Amino acid sequence: MSRDIRSMLPEEIAAALEEMGEKPFRAKQIFFWLSKGVRSFDDMTNLSKDLRARLKERFRLTPPVPVRKQVSSADGTVKFLWRLRDGETVESVVMQYAYGNTVCISTQVGCRMGCAFCASTLGGLVRNLEPSEMLDQVLWSGLEAGVPISNIVLMGIGEPLDNLDGVIRFLTLVNHPDGQGIGMRHITLSTCGLADRFDKMASYDLQLTLSVSLHAPDDETRNRLVPANRGVGVEALMDACRRYFERTGRRVSFEYAMIRDVNDSDDQAEQLAKLVKPIGGHVNLIPLNHVDGRGLSPSTPERIRRFEDKLRARGVNVTVRRRLGSDIDASCGQLRRKTGTAPMGGADGGNR
Ligand code: SAH
Repeated sequence: MSRDIRSMLPEEIAAALEEMGEKPFRAKQIFFWLSKGVRSFDDMTNLSKDLRARLKERFRLTPPVPVRKQVSSADGTVKFLWRLRDGETVESVVMQYAYGNTVCISTQVGCRMGCAFCASTLGGLVRNLEPSEMLDQVLWSGLEAGVPISNIVLMGIGEPLDNLDGVIRFLTLVNHPDGQGIGMRHITLSTCGLADRFDKMASYDLQLTLSVSLHAPDDETRNRLVPANRGVGVEALMDACRRYFERTGRRVSFEYAMIRDVNDSDDQAEQLAKLVKPIGGHVNLIPLNHVDGRGLSPSTPERIRRFEDKLRARGVNVTVRRRLGSDIDASCGQLRRKTGTAPMGGADGGNR
């Protein structure tokens, strides 16, 4: 079995080279090439032909194939569908903000969390993504969109804490100074709140932003919207958030999808303020994006404004998330595994 070289750190590549009787310092050159986006060992032109051939025997290098690229005519948001080595597909989205370009990446093929409003979970979980497959979404999204990437959000398909080891290795790789060197403070990991993994996450003491998809302040509503809440409960989740903050010094943020007559009452705003105020967490209100067949509607703009005002009046730091890429179904919760994919530049009607 050939090893997945894109999931290896430079020191691991060095150790493997040494075993092969090669010079370990070549590892730095190889890692550099991998981070630049080579599709084959043959493109590593400062290595000897012989070494390239030996690398090919031992390691695999299988970048994802972009099978679809859609560009929003409204705001330039770009959505990619990638075909992976085994034929599975995942999506990534590149969003342009004043402070830089952000890529939203997937962490699993499918998802088993079962959230009531999310399209990504409809087919269940197929498998975890390899670190290399997350790393490649960052690299190739930037290269294919033709823009430099400065920020990453783990908010695509999948639950990052359900693939914790893979995600930690990916973070180490993408942050590595000899690779893409994206700073931890430019990375946000979003979770539906697997509270029992927070302590392990905190033990790595990463300076990234942990964002919890709270969506409801009370267990009755949250159990319905986010099944992972069952058996944990909002109180234990908030305790885990507090411990995370105490151990890492990083404030947790909260995502809250505004769903009409489900989680948008004045009373729920009060309850939410009581939960997040003590730990100083930022709240991001997201108007629910429509997903077919889920029977839920977004709150009205007036309701959202009122909810926002209520939180602010209680001293909570709150923003309403702007919708990007809505014309190409690139918004939160709309990413899903596609079958019957159109080829790039093909029958995507109006999109590049
Ligand atoms: N599994 C992780 C990350 C993926 S989802 C998590 O749950 O956080 C990224 C964000 O989009 C989450 O906050 C999720 O709850 C939200 N989301 C999912 N479907 C949505 C929808 N239809 N409208 C608005 N937000 C949605």
